[in-house]
Amino acid sequence: MDRKSFLKTSLAGAAAFAAASTGLLSCASDKKKTCSVPLNLSFQEGIAPGENLSQKLDFMEELGIVGFEPGGGNLASRVDEIRQALSGRNIKVSAICAGFKGFILSEDPATKALFDTTMREIVRAAGELGSTGVIMVPAFNWQNPCMPHNIHTRDYLCNELHQLGEFALSCGTAVILEPLNRNEAFYMRLVSDAAAICRDSNSKGVRCMGDFWHMQEETSDYAAFMSAGKEYLRHVHIASRGRRIMPGEDGEKDCYIDGFRALKELEYEHFISFECGCEGDRAQAVKTAVDLLRSQWEQA
Ligand code: MG
Repeated sequence: MDRKSFLKTSLAGAAAFAAASTGLLSCASDKKKTCSVPLNLSFQEGIAPGENLSQKLDFMEELGIVGFEPGGGNLASRVDEIRQALSGRNIKVSAICAGFKGFILSEDPATKALFDTTMREIVRAAGELGSTGVIMVPAFNWQNPCMPHNIHTRDYLCNELHQLGEFALSCGTAVILEPLNRNEAFYMRLVSDAAAICRDSNSKGVRCMGDFWHMQEETSDYAAFMSAGKEYLRHVHIASRGRRIMPGEDGEKDCYIDGFRALKELEYEHFISFECGCEGDRAQAVKTAVDLLRSQWEQA
């Protein structure tokens, strides 16, 4: 080997070694990073036992739950009540669950107008509460008359969402699209569908979420969350995966590790919120569910 080709080989080797070392280093630091991603659990209002909001929040606080997801119905009239109930606690409002009337893809002008008015009222209240966003579905299968499922409707939806998203931004919050499953909302079934609509709506006030229950439509929980990425993913719902009850009540089926791994890699900083029923004793089932999710988050 002459000096020139020796140098070439050595340099290539050194470069390869450097690249490999950097890879090792970044692997190690990635692992460290994902280990430190906090699991921010949130409850909808019906999850914790308790006779009133204050008792529910006491129970949540003791369990280390940091988010509260109220329904959007009458939210404007509850802003003071919710603020006072959360004052001095380590619990924030997470997302707001729907609660508007009408729907955005209605062909009936009165129904569409009802959506516009009631949704904006909720969005305004959500902003006052510092919420991450108001959850919405463009159209359930049972909602009629609905615009036809075609490319013009998609353009219309993106345009409408742009305006709504900009309004939400001006209120300090967002609208969050929730993909369901084909039995409930044929229009938007996959997290990636919702994320693409966010992108095409071209407003930072339009974001999306994934619901582990509806995500039975997905081929991979990991890929579903990754497809939305940190940019578009704003909220997550969780339930048991067989009967939509408390996580853990469906036994082996209730594995969330694949999805959690994506959330940790994304350094997802928003909430994972319980939206589910309960079969057993509520207080016990909720505690068991929280332990299960913390353990799976560790494993992810
Ligand atoms: Mg949901």
